[in-house]
Amino acid sequence: MSASPDLRPATEVRPSSAVAIDISAVRRDFPILSRQVHGRPLVYLDNAASSQKPRAVIEAERSLYEEYYANVHRGVHTLSMASTDAYEAARSKAQRFLNAGSPREIIFTRGTTEAINLVAATFGRSRVRAGDEVLVSGLEHHSNIVPWQMVCEEKGARLRAAPINDDGEIVLDELAKRLTTRTRILALAHVSNALGTVNPVAQIIEMAHARGVPVLLDGAQAAPHVEVDVQALGCDFYAFSGHKIYGPSGIGVLYGKASLLEEMPPYQGGGDMILSVSFEKTTYNELPYKFEAGTPNIAGVVGLGAALDWVGGIGLDRIAAHEHGLLEQGTRRLQEVPGLKIIGTARDKVAVLSFVVEGVHPHDMGTVLDYEGVAVRTGHHCAQPVMERFGVPATTRASLAVYNTKEEIDVLVEGIQKAREMFA
Ligand code: PMP
Repeated sequence: MSASPDLRPATEVRPSSAVAIDISAVRRDFPILSRQVHGRPLVYLDNAASSQKPRAVIEAERSLYEEYYANVHRGVHTLSMASTDAYEAARSKAQRFLNAGSPREIIFTRGTTEAINLVAATFGRSRVRAGDEVLVSGLEHHSNIVPWQMVCEEKGARLRAAPINDDGEIVLDELAKRLTTRTRILALAHVSNALGTVNPVAQIIEMAHARGVPVLLDGAQAAPHVEVDVQALGCDFYAFSGHKIYGPSGIGVLYGKASLLEEMPPYQGGGDMILSVSFEKTTYNELPYKFEAGTPNIAGVVGLGAALDWVGGIGLDRIAAHEHGLLEQGTRRLQEVPGLKIIGTARDKVAVLSFVVEGVHPHDMGTVLDYEGVAVRTGHHCAQPVMERFGVPATTRASLAVYNTKEEIDVLVEGIQKAREMFA
């Protein structure tokens, strides 16, 4: 038994993008991909909801619990120090992953939802006043709408949304019109979960900053597919979730510019976020601990570090190239299906295929596909305003990851044809 966690930063080792990924080897890393569903090989196409986990992540959590687990930031004993080292090493991995300037700017949260709630409840509540505005877009996940709505309701402010066009792209002129002297923050998806649209965030941040408006990016769907450099983007906040990037659930990251985090009040009170407590006065801990009250999700953090290493070991550029090939093939094949309409046809997209088929309810589609071993998501994808914009109550969504194959797209299309024959 060793009490030494894996502290190696694999994200720095980048294989050349010219070398294609060995997908069979990648698939062997994911134990769950060898299982069957209803007697068929699992075809897992629900990655935008949550992705599967490679052995490296499972192993990182196992070895933490079996070899060096203890609470972090508390003990002088060997195990506590080893756990703390692993926890803080994961913070540095997240810092490198986002190219943040300092680990002080990396706060661990339960996920994207909590990260956005944290910013809304601290930055939002201290800056938004009656008559002010918060700007989002028509493509947002409910997690990037409701926290802002709550702040606006409390303060007597107004939540505005920049509209999207028929391809599912934000209409930039309309967004610009809504960036006014009253706008206190622009909160925007980097990539849409329902449609796959990649927003031109660098351009949008420039527009917002030119008007003095800070920008939060919801990176839940971007981090697994797109290289993110928060310093190059200049965004003020960036949030993503572990479970969508091959890491554990219940863990996520909030990046915030140190200057903003310093001025924000704490989110929750409790252990770890204090320097000293008396009944008269509490002084708060320094960054990032000021925002990490209570015993954190230690295994989740260590697992997330392993996931970021795993992704870095392959290279997001190669992952994106592979997924883009699947998106092109999938789009072509789906367009051949009579009565099928793809919802979300942005020029810049990640590998998300949202669609409706005439005469087939998405839930029936999902059930037929499940019997073929194909896991897809059906419903409104926690983005009801997007569904409303396209005049559909729900879609079927196939969302792809690095381990998906061309053959799996063929199985999806055969399943869709089967559902059409049954229902349409
Ligand atoms: N934003 C987007 C764009 C998402 O896709 C999701 C997850 N579906 C979230 C926010 C919320 O993420 P989590 O549930 O991990 O907090």
